[in-house]
Amino acid sequence: MLCDLCSRQVAEEKTFRLPLRELRRAVDAGFDPFRAADMTIWKAMPFNVGLSDEDLFREWRRRMVQAKRDWQICPLCAEAFQGATGRVLVPIGQAVGREGKPRMTLGEFGRRHRPTLYFVFAITVLLGIGVEVCRRFDWSRLHRAEWEKRLAIIEKQVLKVVPQADQRVYRLAADVGRFLRDRWMVGYLYDQTKGTEYFIGRPSPADFRRAIEAQKAAIAAGKPFDSGKIPKYRFDMEFKELRCRLVVGAAEPPGADLAPK
Ligand SMILES: [Zn+2]
Repeated sequence: MLCDLCSRQVAEEKTFRLPLRELRRAVDAGFDPFRAADMTIWKAMPFNVGLSDEDLFREWRRRMVQAKRDWQICPLCAEAFQGATGRVLVPIGQAVGREGKPRMTLGEFGRRHRPTLYFVFAITVLLGIGVEVCRRFDWSRLHRAEWEKRLAIIEKQVLKVVPQADQRVYRLAADVGRFLRDRWMVGYLYDQTKGTEYFIGRPSPADFRRAIEAQKAAIAAGKPFDSGKIPKYRFDMEFKELRCRLVVGAAEPPGADLAPK
């Protein structure tokens, strides 16, 4: 690389770091490289040839003012600068990053970006909590409440539009069956008055029927209904007016019955 001050060729690991602030302060205090250092090479640069001493200094000063990053200077210039100003410069050597900036340690990075790091950390924690809350929330309960409300309305309509009492449960089974079919669910409707039962909705899988039979036997033996034993259990409810009980499970996914066995 070339020395930022005198343009002499120099190996980067031999350079010294000259902070711009320090250089400008020194120039303001009277530091003149053309008097203090060996600027022969710089003077011989094509853009400097033919300039008067005054112009040379002005040109050099212009470039120094426009500089954006700290300079890297050769040992000769470092010595000249130190001799003229009494400042001690640090050899950068291995500590120089590729961009000519001193390498930043991890701890320094942490201190400099602490607010950003705290912010990122806080956002990460909040996102984590949000995901966990959503994961734990029982979304099917929302559905369940909505389904039970809709089915209760179906029961009211049956009572209103079917005058014959002995045909009401049959109509309830048909309407509830359609409701479940549309939502890809299977249902078991039990008429407590007559003891008749209906498998409604999507075609009931064998394990659903078996589980219902097992529950009937258990209830007959005086045990309470255990929804945990119903495969893909969704909800169960009571039709109070028509004295029917409904157990609902999820149906096989669409097309499962077409899959080769
Ligand atoms: Zn130099």
